[in-house]
Amino acid sequence: MNEILEVRHGVSAAHLANQIIREEEESARLLALESYEILDSAPEKSYDDIARLAAYVCAAPVALITFYDRNQQWVKSRFATGNFADRPLHMPAAALLCERMVLQPGKVTQISDMSLDEGFAVLPLLHGNGKLRFYGAMPIYSPAGDILGALTVLDRRSRTLAHEQCQALETLARQIMELLEMRRTLIGLSDANAKLGQQNITDALTGIPNRRAYDQKLTEEYSRAKRTGAPLSMLLIDIDNFKEYNDNFGHPAGDTALQSVARVLMSSLRPYDFLARYGGEEFVIILPSTDLTDAIVVAERVRGLVAGSEFPHRKFTISIGIARLDVDAGARALVQAADNGLYRAKAAGRNKAVVGKLNDSSPAGSATP
Ligand code: GH3
Ligand code: MG
Ligand code: MG
Repeated sequence: MNEILEVRHGVSAAHLANQIIREEEESARLLALESYEILDSAPEKSYDDIARLAAYVCAAPVALITFYDRNQQWVKSRFATGNFADRPLHMPAAALLCERMVLQPGKVTQISDMSLDEGFAVLPLLHGNGKLRFYGAMPIYSPAGDILGALTVLDRRSRTLAHEQCQALETLARQIMELLEMRRTLIGLSDANAKLGQQNITDALTGIPNRRAYDQKLTEEYSRAKRTGAPLSMLLIDIDNFKEYNDNFGHPAGDTALQSVARVLMSSLRPYDFLARYGGEEFVIILPSTDLTDAIVVAERVRGLVAGSEFPHRKFTISIGIARLDVDAGARALVQAADNGLYRAKAAGRNKAVVGKLNDSSPAGSATP
């Protein structure tokens, strides 16, 4: 009894282990397939050309490039002549095809007459496909040796492929793999480019948009304001007495403080406001669709928030210059006006938000109107 149990246990454990290994292999294969982003991709001439060549060298009416997803096959390219040109093709299940291919690794799998084949005869292939009998397929192998799909030729007559035709299919399947590898390289490149583009517009220290991003945003928002007539305002922000902080606590502590201030500023924004590091210990906030009255409210909120926040070593205050766009004067005038406001805020004793005017000749100290 004991012995039988052990045997039964041994058998089922081995079976289970086998299943787990197969499932792990299948997951790895699917991951590899995913990395090429080929499923659901649009038709591409280079793949169509290979299918056409395969049909031509094998003198077959149908050639397909398919990829095997978990439960279905994706036709990347289909070349078909005569009766088969616009008829839907029913293909055997990917699992069945893979099983056959695994039996002859690295070689073309051929079934000279599917109607006589145990596995294939029951498929709708014969009935639905206008008496297709011959099946020849060269697997498309990933560099790790996974079968990703196949280059398949089909024929209405029972036949086999000549040695040279098999060799041609092997070569063409390798070409498909080259195309896939190239595709993956391009995907990697475009990801890297996107990342680089992101780096180009992000301030390395604070992680918020940098001066370049601000320039782009201002240009965009100016055009929008000009087009739609919507108001546009700006806050130019400078940390008060920051040099002293650096002098007292060191530059690294200053860096950390800048990061903290950026975080507090960020937390004060509405979704459509835009914060950037203008340079040094200066920040800028672009306020789309915001008139002067609302800009003053935002500025006061931001100023109060920073003044009330805790930072390492000591508290911080900021001075803010506020300006509203005059479309006729242009975007540069908006910045100039905000800068004038900032100058006045500093002159008025710091920790202030002051509206700046373009041609500002009034005495320093004028507070928000
Ligand atoms: P004010 O209230 O008039 O603005 O005084 P302030 O000391 O803030 O102004 P000032 O322009 O004299 O000094 C700005 C300081 O900001 C000087 C510079 O060392 C510091 N700073 C600028 N960028 C950085 C940075 O990236 N890291 C650190 N730690 N300090 C910076
Ligand atoms: Mg400054
Ligand atoms: Mg300063």
